Amino acid sequence: MDEKKAAFTKLLLKWHKKDNTRLMPWKGEKDPYKIWLSEVILQQTRVEQGWAYYEKFLEAFPTVHDLARAPEQKVFKLWEGLGYYNRCRHLIATAKKISSEYKGVFPSSYEQIRELKGIGPYTAAAIASFAFDLPHAVVDGNVARVLARYFAISIPIDSTAGKKWIVELADVLLDKRGPGIYNQAIMDFGATVCKPQNPLCGTCPLQPDCMAFQQDLVRTLPIKGKSIRKRTRWLYYFLLETKDKKIYIRQRTGKDIWEDLYEFILWETEGPVDGAEAILESEFARKLFGNRSLTVKYISKIYRQELSHQTIHGQFISISLGKPLPGLKGFQLVDREKLDEYAFPKFINAWLLDPTPVQSLF
Ligand code: SF4
Repeated sequence: MDEKKAAFTKLLLKWHKKDNTRLMPWKGEKDPYKIWLSEVILQQTRVEQGWAYYEKFLEAFPTVHDLARAPEQKVFKLWEGLGYYNRCRHLIATAKKISSEYKGVFPSSYEQIRELKGIGPYTAAAIASFAFDLPHAVVDGNVARVLARYFAISIPIDSTAGKKWIVELADVLLDKRGPGIYNQAIMDFGATVCKPQNPLCGTCPLQPDCMAFQQDLVRTLPIKGKSIRKRTRWLYYFLLETKDKKIYIRQRTGKDIWEDLYEFILWETEGPVDGAEAILESEFARKLFGNRSLTVKYISKIYRQELSHQTIHGQFISISLGKPLPGLKGFQLVDREKLDEYAFPKFINAWLLDPTPVQSLF
């Protein structure tokens, strides 16, 4: 390893030894099941929020067998709020595989760990190094940012060439004698010192050798090539309540967002629908209700949620029905007070927690 690279590893480890103050319940953990749980959760959320999810999961499922045997709906319910439900599905599938094929013992080679559903190179490297001291470097956006700055890498870090560069460099820099500690150090350093916004260059121990700092490129690096073009969607949810306080819900299926989560009766449109009258006089509403008697209780304000590739907007229309609607395919009637037993997308939960009617009806 050349001098500059060796200096990076040495300074980083020295910093970590001295300033290792970032508290996390899974830090120093050697149990691969707990490490895996924490890493999967942390892919979805910040440490502060992830902490609570981690504890909830461990309390409900202390071992991989408990997770494997749990009713899926219970796991989804605990996952609620984390988003990307495919990852939750992978979590369940992997728990089942470890529980049955590996008799509850987490595989201990990088290659076997990498083969498990939902475990990419980053999580596999974290599990392999933290639990089994195997020499695999973690590489994620944090690590890429630190390396792109310190070594002033001007190739876009999300390009094929940029990713290859970073992965190869990360492998060289890894302290093979203590891969777990090194990986923890670079993760902590990226999260607390070389942060995406306002990095602490003034007090950074790596500053004297940091090429981005020397060349005044800290704000320019890392360079990203791709910009994601987001799809905008408009969802209008009809919340139909029968006289005995039951609501129609269904589980989402198909390859779309929020697969397997629950929702109300949905009308998706190409763009915004202007006002309550237009919603209720739409062809969708006419087909749904025919000429049956109903009372519109209110229409909510417009809710909005940003997903990585989509922006979701929508409203909730709360309606009291005289009689249940016959033949609503795929829907079930559920007591209103029991709605919290079902896992809904964050978008619907935002409304359930704050069902503010702000739009006047007509
Ligand atoms: Fe990051 Fe600034 Fe330190 Fe360079 S000097 S490693 S940019 S925090």
